[in-house]
Amino acid sequence: MPERSDSDSRKLLRRLRDVLATPGKGQERLDRITHLIADNIDTDVCSIYLFRDPETLELCATQGLKKTAVHKTRMKLGEGLVGRVARTGLPVNTADAPGEKGFRYMPETGEELFSAFLGVPIQRVGEKLGVLVVQSKEARAYSEDEIYALEVVAMVLAEMTELGAFAGEGGGGMGALHKQPVLFRGATGQEGASEGRVWLHEPRVVVTNPVADDPLTEIDRIRAAVGELRVSVDDLLAAESLDKDQKAVLEAYRMFAHSRGWLRRMEEDIASGLSAEAAVEKEQSAARARLEQVPDAYLRERLHDLDDLSNRLLRILTGQGKDTGATMPDNPVLVARNIGPAELLEYGRKLKGVVLEEGSVGSHAAIVARALSIPMVIHAERITTEALNGDQILVDGDQGIVHLRPEDTVARSFRDKIAMQAQAQQRFASLRDLPATTKDGVTISLHMNAGLMADLPSLEGSGADGVGLFRTELQFLIRNQMPRRDELAQLYTRVMEASKGRPVAFRTLDIGSDKVLPYMKPNDEPNPAMGWRAIRVGLDKPGVLRMQLQALIRAAAGRPLSIMFPFITEHGEFIAARSHMLREMHREKSLGHAVPERLEIGAMLETPSLAYAPQAFFDMTDFISIGGNDLKQFFFAADRENERVRKRYDTLNASFLTFLQFIVARCAASNTKLSFCGEDAGRPVEALAFAAIGLRMLSMRPASIGPVKALLRTVDLAAARAVMDKAREEGAETVRPALEAWLQKQGHL
Ligand code: PEP
Ligand code: MG
Repeated sequence: MPERSDSDSRKLLRRLRDVLATPGKGQERLDRITHLIADNIDTDVCSIYLFRDPETLELCATQGLKKTAVHKTRMKLGEGLVGRVARTGLPVNTADAPGEKGFRYMPETGEELFSAFLGVPIQRVGEKLGVLVVQSKEARAYSEDEIYALEVVAMVLAEMTELGAFAGEGGGGMGALHKQPVLFRGATGQEGASEGRVWLHEPRVVVTNPVADDPLTEIDRIRAAVGELRVSVDDLLAAESLDKDQKAVLEAYRMFAHSRGWLRRMEEDIASGLSAEAAVEKEQSAARARLEQVPDAYLRERLHDLDDLSNRLLRILTGQGKDTGATMPDNPVLVARNIGPAELLEYGRKLKGVVLEEGSVGSHAAIVARALSIPMVIHAERITTEALNGDQILVDGDQGIVHLRPEDTVARSFRDKIAMQAQAQQRFASLRDLPATTKDGVTISLHMNAGLMADLPSLEGSGADGVGLFRTELQFLIRNQMPRRDELAQLYTRVMEASKGRPVAFRTLDIGSDKVLPYMKPNDEPNPAMGWRAIRVGLDKPGVLRMQLQALIRAAAGRPLSIMFPFITEHGEFIAARSHMLREMHREKSLGHAVPERLEIGAMLETPSLAYAPQAFFDMTDFISIGGNDLKQFFFAADRENERVRKRYDTLNASFLTFLQFIVARCAASNTKLSFCGEDAGRPVEALAFAAIGLRMLSMRPASIGPVKALLRTVDLAAARAVMDKAREEGAETVRPALEAWLQKQGHL
């Protein structure tokens, strides 16, 4: 235990709490608090700096510096010693502040008189609120105990700030938390715009009393809660069916939960006057600040673990479970750090939008959001600390932007955007039953991509000619155990029935790379996108592939069946995969089951090598579908999951188009049906370019069918081709500028 007098510290905290309890304006409270602290800690200066905006700190109250500097002195995050405390979340303690590197002299405060400086962050679980500073004339470093005491005080200030104790009419640094408009710049998870009210997937725990009434009771509470936590982690660990990763995470949880240091520090915090909840948060904030400085990815992962554990502990202490009793608002927009596909599916279509701090474009949650056509923004950093349940929120999935508690003007122009999109939707809906025939009479067959039951209603709504890509792995991904053959057969039956005779191309299981089944042993691969994935897994371990093929044959129950194998790289793989299918047909027949009246077996062309396969391959395969997402990533050697390089090379790059044209020519020569089913097929200008070089079937997200069809119906394909050819002849890197300029001239863009 530190040597300082705990009762002094407790007395100070109680007096702080009294300040909170007595009515008063925010500014008066802050003034009283700086006075109290300076008095109690026996120092010449005590100042409170709060964030005015995420980049700027403002001196909001002081005892000892010139009062005229209050609300005048400001500094940027990272600027001066105060800015350094705010940026790093760690204390700065120096006997000679003016001599310290980075010191910024602020003449208006009169601080040149003071030599010693101690600043500690005012923060609440990762949310930086400000900085608490004490200074004295005497050139001395503050002791560990003094630093600690000030941190405890800062913790109470953080809770008080959170509770709105300092909110006033002053605005800026004095503004109430979680009231101001905030803009988050993330990335697109799923296009579309929507307006709604925040619904936090994991609501924040509200701590109403940061100060302990009786430390002994609080110590009992924290010990009991930690005991309960330990039991719950041990129980989780005892569960069977844990994979290596889950086990590793839980082991880390157990290590933290049983850590004597953690409990001891929290007990010390309580002895200094904090309540059990505030003690948990204080250690959580401190651990975050420390670990955020660590570049090591493994340690940062552990930070998440400790965070999760602290949240669990808080929930045990406050009794505030996930279910806080709050009712979901109308038009809910889900806000979460991250979310699994199954959980997202459970919320379903009632969500107006999804905003995540983490996530990736190819993540399963993004796939589900796409299937449900819910606008989604990913990488909205820190939104879970800023947003409160019920806050107004605008989700701009097109730009990857989120407006939280927007100004009226922003909300109004956003509504205009939504209205325009709705109008466009109406226009697209009116085209639903018309063909995608160009002005010069070429009809392009537009199909949709699917993978979940939730996709099926779109078959009618979108006017798709069929399902050009059914990603069967999604059904595997959203479960926590391997589906059985009967289950799969039932599911595929429902898909075929919903398609009402329209063709459906079932792609066999495409796992590996970013798609890891929770119940399969993960492989540590240096580069999973080029690793053991898709058909490579299927051929090496054919049990699941065969089971899936059987399920497909049974679901077809005599009807025509179309299947395709993912990621075929050479002819031999196709021969092997195809013979599995033929063997299963034979087996099903010998068991007396009906076999499809017509069977088509196709290959996905996702690696450049397959375009150069021997003629025999093109003769053997019934159809080829270009998996543009993968093909593009391998053609340009640019990871589709890596935001940095994902968009670096244009799909309309002349080399890529020339390559696609080569594939078109090979398929034409062997009379092999060809389609394109990557995301690019759903972008109108790209779709037009593909059609212009000879593709006649495109498969895309259902929501893209309308916009693609609308454009195709207005253009002359031969003229578009001439524009592209001319650009290529002139040496353009990409034909996009020429094509877009041409479209614009005709008023089509
Ligand atoms: C592709 O690679 O383009 C494709 C359609 O498959 P997926 O996106 O599922 O890899
Ligand atoms: Mg692919």
